[in-house]
Amino acid sequence: MSAAVDAETARSLSLFRPLGESACLPVSLAFHLFHCSGHQIQEAIRSQGQSEVGTAPRAASTGLRLAWSPLFRRYQRNACGYCKSDNGSAAYYASSVSVRPEHYESLLCQGWRRSGTLYYKQNLRRSCCPHYTMRLQAADFKPRRDQRKALNRWNKYVLGPEYMRKAAMLAPITREEKKRRQQGFDLAQAVHASEYANLPRPIDPKTKKPIEPAHKFEVTIEGDSLSQRKYEVFLKYQAAIHNEAADKWKSADFKRFLCAGLKRNAPKEGSGEKKIGSWHQCYRLDGRLIAVAVLDLLPEGVSSVYLFYDPEFGDWGFGKLSALREIVLAREESYQYYYMGYYIHSCQKMRYKALYRPQYILDPESKTWDPLDGELSQKLDKRKYVSLSHDRANPPSEKEEEEEPELANEEELSLFDIHMPGVLTADQVLSQLDLDHWLLLVHGSFVHMSDLVGWEEADLRSAQSIKGIVGELAAVLGVDVVQKSACVLFD
Ligand SMILES: [Zn+2]
Repeated sequence: MSAAVDAETARSLSLFRPLGESACLPVSLAFHLFHCSGHQIQEAIRSQGQSEVGTAPRAASTGLRLAWSPLFRRYQRNACGYCKSDNGSAAYYASSVSVRPEHYESLLCQGWRRSGTLYYKQNLRRSCCPHYTMRLQAADFKPRRDQRKALNRWNKYVLGPEYMRKAAMLAPITREEKKRRQQGFDLAQAVHASEYANLPRPIDPKTKKPIEPAHKFEVTIEGDSLSQRKYEVFLKYQAAIHNEAADKWKSADFKRFLCAGLKRNAPKEGSGEKKIGSWHQCYRLDGRLIAVAVLDLLPEGVSSVYLFYDPEFGDWGFGKLSALREIVLAREESYQYYYMGYYIHSCQKMRYKALYRPQYILDPESKTWDPLDGELSQKLDKRKYVSLSHDRANPPSEKEEEEEPELANEEELSLFDIHMPGVLTADQVLSQLDLDHWLLLVHGSFVHMSDLVGWEEADLRSAQSIKGIVGELAAVLGVDVVQKSACVLFD
């Protein structure tokens, strides 16, 4: 009964598991999945490692065990770390250890995001603090004064007054360079200005030795592998920034959270081929690792996943320094977009993201991109959920925002009855997808969904049927990704 899938096709597929059917966690850890804030997402990732399989119903006559935990639903309401509501945030969850970067980019452009191996998409219409996907065009970005200042300040610190004085004397900049600098701020120049490899080091006539900067600053892009020093910096960062106890993160949890991302390619030096997959941009000062930016490099964009730094360097604005460097990376390596993650308009702490301009927001329904400044921003000041495409089709009344009516037992419902924005309806799934022939990975080989006993009679709209579970996943992934992926349901 196995489906004919050649090896090359098999390699090109992404795999997805609806969360409730796979990540079975002990009851005591249930609350860890309450994740609306980045911090709580870390909790979810951390606790994945402590998972254990729950009692599993048998899947019809296939004899396979369907890993199942009634506590962990694929669609779930959770506490919100931003407004501190008890169950304000609702999202759909899946997990995967194998998503191709191009498919992940396609998911990003539909409002998904990943954290380690956990993939999720929030229901913006039913969440207290809607998470809007944002991105900017790297080529169009214009740094603000405070952003430029952060770079200049850091460069001065690295170079030191003595080096700067001597370099001005012994290796003065050319007239062309001077002219260029007068024309305005050169972001790439400022980002690279204090990197050791780029520094002129003329011989000091007094010492007969090359002049040296105050600090040796190096930035490299490396695979997202685990190292003891990365782990130490991460722990220091979590303790200082999130007030977490030192024993909270085991090295394996850290690894699952930030060192086990998308598969990387291996472009040859000078081939012009872009890096793709999950990488660590490592900042070293005098040979010591001081910051790591975790990046997903995708065919069209650089997606910022996480940044942690040694809190000793907390005053230098590493958030700004790293964002500016990543925008320059996007420009230099021809990734078109820079994704800064989610934007929550109602959350003051997140407003800084809007200061990287011009910034665009994903319309949760049409999946087109609108400038954040202007109409969208004005509407977001007045109501939490905004889809400009929806407003155009159904002009909203001038009245106050209408609250979404509460759904009884929302988590028990089929996703098709929840009407989550940007998700296919049951009719669309039936007409646009061939769900019967969607691939299911079982013990290393592929079968079609229709090979499952009872598949044909099962009801797509039932949240409890396998067809319902599979159909929901397909509806949230969207047509494009479903066609390039397979589903995993069984252990
Ligand atoms: Zn909230």
